[in-house]
Amino acid sequence: MVEIKTDASLDAMREAGRVVGTALAAVREAAAVGVSLRRLDETARSVLHEAGAGSPFLGYTPQFAPTPFPAVICASVNDAIVHGIPDGYRLRDGDLVSIDCGATLAGWAGDAAVSFIVGTPRPEDLRLVETTERALAAAIEAAVVGARIGDIAHAVGTVGRAAGYGIPADFGGHGIGRRMHEDPPVPNEGRPGRGLPLRHGLVLAIEPMFLAGGRDAYLTDPDGWTLRTVDRTRAAHFEHTVAITDDGPRILTAP
Ligand code: MG
Ligand code: MG
Repeated sequence: MVEIKTDASLDAMREAGRVVGTALAAVREAAAVGVSLRRLDETARSVLHEAGAGSPFLGYTPQFAPTPFPAVICASVNDAIVHGIPDGYRLRDGDLVSIDCGATLAGWAGDAAVSFIVGTPRPEDLRLVETTERALAAAIEAAVVGARIGDIAHAVGTVGRAAGYGIPADFGGHGIGRRMHEDPPVPNEGRPGRGLPLRHGLVLAIEPMFLAGGRDAYLTDPDGWTLRTVDRTRAAHFEHTVAITDDGPRILTAP
């Protein structure tokens, strides 16, 4: 069921989203060569804690998961696409890091992700990160009243395919509200003019993820969580929680 939010709910979701944006900014600031992924999780935890927010990631146990998720961020490095578990791994020069973070505040959820490079970037990684971020921007631009879910999906897929990147079909965006994952699904590829019409008060987490090697396939690590490219090429992931409004798309997860 697709839930349309009231304007008061959108304002409440903005506050949850602000915590997510602030946590991601803090993690990005803390990320440097030699810093562990666990330390980045602690950074996000303290932002959530100070804001009085909860984590929809911590303890999350979806159907595919063998164990509850143990952290408040996902940290996916290099060939890891999404759902990486923050562990003792210390960042190295040139690592491409994708951080996904969620928060719940006053009963509402926010969900966002960023990718960035630690230290000296490789040109091909910069291109991957910039293109994935551009796909998110194009998708948000398409998230207007009167358009449809397929227009958002088409915007993401067009940018990714034009760059020659792979797109894993089983993972994408989603509705969001009191729960982190709600209807409708928001695929990262689709046909324009198809799918659910976008209305004022619909809130979506839009999240392009692109694989540099151009293949769509992925593998799951033995931990049951981390998704990895099959060819070990790198991946990038960006996400914002966005409200469709009569005044245009409203990004709820900016800092
Ligand atoms: Mg997310
Ligand atoms: Mg999401």
